[in-house]
Amino acid sequence: MKLDTRAMRHLAPEDWRVLTAVEMGSKNHELVPTPLIEKLARLRGGASGVHRSISALAKVGLIAKVKEAKYDGYRLTYGGLDYLALHTHATRKDLYSVGTRIGVGKESDIMVVADDTGTQRVLKIHRLGRISFRTVKSNRDYLKNRASGSWMYLSRLAAMKEYAFMKALYAEGFPVPVPLAQSRHTIVMTLVDAFPLRQISTVPDPASLYADLIALILRLASHGLIHGDFNEFNILVKEEKTVLEDGVESIRLEPVVIDFPQMVSMEHQNAEMYFDRDVECIKRFFSRRFHFTSTTPGPFYKDIKKKLKKSQVTRLDATVEASGFTKKMLKDLEAAIKEQAEKRGSKGLSEEADDDENEGDEDEDDASSTGEDEEEEPVGGILGQHHMDAVGDVVQGH
Ligand code: ADP
Ligand code: MG
Repeated sequence: MKLDTRAMRHLAPEDWRVLTAVEMGSKNHELVPTPLIEKLARLRGGASGVHRSISALAKVGLIAKVKEAKYDGYRLTYGGLDYLALHTHATRKDLYSVGTRIGVGKESDIMVVADDTGTQRVLKIHRLGRISFRTVKSNRDYLKNRASGSWMYLSRLAAMKEYAFMKALYAEGFPVPVPLAQSRHTIVMTLVDAFPLRQISTVPDPASLYADLIALILRLASHGLIHGDFNEFNILVKEEKTVLEDGVESIRLEPVVIDFPQMVSMEHQNAEMYFDRDVECIKRFFSRRFHFTSTTPGPFYKDIKKKLKKSQVTRLDATVEASGFTKKMLKDLEAAIKEQAEKRGSKGLSEEADDDENEGDEDEDDASSTGEDEEEEPVGGILGQHHMDAVGDVVQGH
């Protein structure tokens, strides 16, 4: 599923109203009946205007017609949801133009976008349920399968959870991208001009980077959190250059952490497994890539947990829960992430993850650059020139 903004500028204000009506109708209907779309859209032109918009939207794949025994109706597609989110971001001036895709994550598309001043940002589009949705699509019986309706809900939950955690972490001073906006299944954040650790073949001082990463795991834990996918794809390494007094340049590597939909609390029933897995991931990567093995064993969940009881720092797991994320939502999302990981055959471990790059993506024609290739050398910065499609224009005047 690739974001294609080409049709966006051709949509009339009525089309947007009808698209919004289909989205509203989807809240209670797997399949939104045409009369309900008419009612929700409340177009001045009446039914004929609605029908014209419906065919325009169906033609470009933003809604899809579904025939069922009782009635025919329409459902919103991922493309339709993408357009609605982009429209909202553009209206709020969170973004103006959309550029190239820089990453196809496990359950997401990562696009470079820009605001109206040309400042580049990142749009992360969550695509949870993409795989099950596809198996469901080919299944004639899909109306009985709740999963067909839930891709929208689950992807939105993933974006909401990720945004809530990014905000909490950013406020605590953690090195994460700045969370700027969220709409539906998407997040806008700052673009980090750095490469994933995965793409870095040598570092001057592996011990110090390793220590920084373990310190980050411990700092998260001290706030009651476990990243849950702390691997070389989700750690971007920035080069901070400083020129010393004698003119000598010193380069410090600063890790920036991304990707938070799977974060768990230190109180989670499988917290120990998640914590130890995060630590193990870093240890294994450093040993394989940099031939570095720490002489200190651990850190171990049990020891950290004991300290946590006595500590006074803000519990971010509680903060996020207090921000409206219910236990049921966390559970639904966790189940979906787990299901998807099992479908990929991956245990959430990075080494496995790259074998499945193309799975779950229908039109993988330009899978650019998350650095799957072991030999790949970073060339230039990712902050290069990207071709941008202005989408901000479409909201002007309405
Ligand atoms: P997923 O959940 O699908 O793994 P991620 O959030 O990890 O998605 O993003 C996938 C890839 O996109 C990352 O490995 C990184 O290369 C790139 N990326 C994501 N967010 C940013 C950002 N804010 N700045 C720069 N690159 C990013
Ligand atoms: Mg990731």
